[in-house]
Amino acid sequence: MNVARAIPALEEIVVPVLDGSLFPVRRIYCVGRNYVDHIREMKEADERDPPFFFQKPRDAIVLDGAAVPYPPLTSDFQFEAELVLAIGKPGRKIDVQSALDHVWGYGAGLDMTRRDRQRDARDMRLPWEIGKSFDASAPCGVLTPVSTGGHRTKGRLTLSVNGAERQRGDLAQMIWNVPEIVSQLSRQVALGAGDLIFTGTPAGVGAVVPGDKIEVNIEGLSPLTINIAPPEE
Ligand code: MN
Repeated sequence: MNVARAIPALEEIVVPVLDGSLFPVRRIYCVGRNYVDHIREMKEADERDPPFFFQKPRDAIVLDGAAVPYPPLTSDFQFEAELVLAIGKPGRKIDVQSALDHVWGYGAGLDMTRRDRQRDARDMRLPWEIGKSFDASAPCGVLTPVSTGGHRTKGRLTLSVNGAERQRGDLAQMIWNVPEIVSQLSRQVALGAGDLIFTGTPAGVGAVVPGDKIEVNIEGLSPLTINIAPPEE
């Protein structure tokens, strides 16, 4: 029976795939600290700490070529270029050895951050949501399936603002690699097909302002470009 919705039905959130199909998004997870040089620039944490995870709302997705309005409540809106994993197979308590079987594909992403609010939250021992989980905070590029591109265990990751390079790293520098991330997260929550995992950023994070153009390039993947727009009225 087709029961009427009390409000208009919610929009499905999807990310385009290289072959023209669409990948439905279930949840968005992010790894908090995963490159030693970024931990050092943030002056926080022990470099051997286990990975920790936070979430963004799934409708925070912004697609390649779109505009990201400068968000409210910040004057330090920063980029973090990250490899994104797309989970294709559900699982719990996944072993490192079989973790890659759950990864369906990869994309280039941005963990956009209200850095001033994140620092406040850290100093006040409050949750990170205000700094990390907000509208349009999860730009994600076109996904490349493992079936065509293979797994991404190493390769150059760069970010430029208005054509000038600001971040450069290599996926091989991740403290916790892709199988370890999938395995660890699956011990905290059940992973589902459609989950996206942003895997952390190397050094060089910085602020942007309206009018800036950000481009993320990861070897072997589609580039991601977004434009920072003026704040919404
Ligand atoms: Mn991040």
